[in-house]
Amino acid sequence: MTHEEAAGLLGAWALDACEDAEAASVERHLASCADCRVEAASLTRAAAGLGELAAGA
Ligand SMILES: [Zn+2]
Repeated sequence: MTHEEAAGLLGAWALDACEDAEAASVERHLASCADCRVEAASLTRAAAGLGELAAGA
């Protein structure tokens, strides 16, 4: 998977909305790409925050 492909899937990946095979490819890319790890961490935090908002509503 290229960086562009991984970057395009990170939002869905953070929300657990990827196919298993896609998620595995994203995770393989994350292991080798610091830029995507930073983006993934911030998206994961945002997704967790949305979950908390939904749980509190
Ligand atoms: Zn990347």
